[in-house]
Amino acid sequence: MERIMVMGGAGYIGSHTLKYLREHGYDAFAVDNLSCGHKEAVLDADLIKADLLDKDSLEEIFKNNKVDAVIHFAAYSLVGESVENPAKYYRNNVIGTLNLLDVMRNNNVNKIVFSSTCATYGNPQYTPIDEKHPQSPINPYGQTKLTIEKIFQDYQKAYGLKYIALRYFNAAGADESGLIGESHNPESHLIPIVLQAIMGKRENIKIYGDDYDTKDGTCLRDYIHVNDLAKAHMLAVEKLDEYQGFINLGTGVATSVKEIIKAAEEVSGKECPTVIAARRTGDPAVLYADNRLAEKVLGWKAKYTKIEDIIRTAWNWETNRRF
Ligand code: UDP
Repeated sequence: MERIMVMGGAGYIGSHTLKYLREHGYDAFAVDNLSCGHKEAVLDADLIKADLLDKDSLEEIFKNNKVDAVIHFAAYSLVGESVENPAKYYRNNVIGTLNLLDVMRNNNVNKIVFSSTCATYGNPQYTPIDEKHPQSPINPYGQTKLTIEKIFQDYQKAYGLKYIALRYFNAAGADESGLIGESHNPESHLIPIVLQAIMGKRENIKIYGDDYDTKDGTCLRDYIHVNDLAKAHMLAVEKLDEYQGFINLGTGVATSVKEIIKAAEEVSGKECPTVIAARRTGDPAVLYADNRLAEKVLGWKAKYTKIEDIIRTAWNWETNRRF
């Protein structure tokens, strides 16, 4: 059985991928520094507490575990914080990944699947966004991810690294079991904030701008269910011998902020208190994926194509949260 190290396996997407891999016959285990992750999110799998900046600990993990491939989620991912504190982002995301790649090389592990992001594209020049779209990140978070993509290309040529970097659009939803889900502190993402406003845990949801040039004036995004992301990671691990490169992961559907609120009201049967606020700096009006490469290379298709179905899983989690 292949043993897969899920770096950042106690985080939102990492924990869903860990569960998905184990349900599909992989001996996957989690490594996490628990700075953002939750130990309760690691279900029925080994969790090793370690930090990417502590190379000795990483060496020890590789010495003590047979690792066939690494899936690497461990990164800071708050855009606003990355603008205020870029040092934290470059150090953790870039140097952390360099450490991981060094230790992998020392231990003859050459397969990695990586969490990249549509934030590497910056402001879109056209939509849907395909993988050939120019990359020009508008914040340090996106810049760290793009830097790592470049490192992979050079390491492939020089050291034979086999990599796939998956550029996600907006991860959303939760596992149907209700055992794991999204839990960020502070929470900045639209869907959990809308659900918390509906539950009375927040005063309201602030719509950041209703004067964009879109169908209803609010921003359009491509929301992809976290278990559809999880599945793509497993398929990517299985393809590493044949394919190396960059692949978008989105549903290809653009949903507005107002449509999210309406769908959440339908799913919950309750009204969402809403106020219109100023635009948030750095928000492009429209972002959605051309996902044909994922289908072609990975044989991947999104299972959750209706936003109501994605929100239903998030609501199930939000109303019965374990952490
Ligand atoms: N958004 C909003 N109010 C909020 C949080 C987000 O109107 O309290 C909007 C935001 O402007 C963007 C969309 O919801 O258009 C998704 O934002 P999120 O932070 O969830 O993800 P992002 O697209 O920034 O990665």
